[in-house]
Amino acid sequence: MTSSVHALERLKRPQTTSDRPERAEVEAAFRTIIQWTGDDPERDGLIETPARMARAFEEFFIGYSQNPTEILQKTFEEIEGYDEMIALRGIRFESHCEHHMAPIIGQAWVAYVPSGRVVGISKLARVVEAYAKRLQIQEKMTAQIANTINDVLRPQGVGVIIKASHHCMSTRGVRKTDSDLVTSRMLGCFRDNPLTRQEFLSMAV
Ligand SMILES: [Zn+2]
Repeated sequence: MTSSVHALERLKRPQTTSDRPERAEVEAAFRTIIQWTGDDPERDGLIETPARMARAFEEFFIGYSQNPTEILQKTFEEIEGYDEMIALRGIRFESHCEHHMAPIIGQAWVAYVPSGRVVGISKLARVVEAYAKRLQIQEKMTAQIANTINDVLRPQGVGVIIKASHHCMSTRGVRKTDSDLVTSRMLGCFRDNPLTRQEFLSMAV
């Protein structure tokens, strides 16, 4: 890993533990939101809800405590010269849009052509997870996954495709329930070689 990657990761860390609000403050904020909807946060069914929401939010946004660069550190070099595409297909993820904090539910296809070393396949899914469990826009998340794999593994190329439905669009606003958003980022041979690009795209339809 280069020191610039390290520096970048530090910059991306949004909060240190010292400026993180206390749990009680977060629960109070959720009580305010419940009240604002028009309901009574003190009634039986809702009394525990702020605490449950805080726990749920910890899960939704666990990605801020995960470092995708570190996830990809352990690699394997005994691969007998393997230099074909490695693709992990249909990695399901749940994220939240940074504009409405509404769910983004989708799947990611992540592929690379190695250059002398490979990473354990579960690590590709963990990188997707580390970026998904943050406030996101799909375009940025697609680029982050591809860029991180490219920066850390230095492969011949990387391709990432994400298809997702956005609840901020299906349950509010224009209420289009059947559409999904497709984004992709191709680097190295995925960008330069039409055959590699086509091989990857054909896996993801
Ligand atoms: Zn949104």
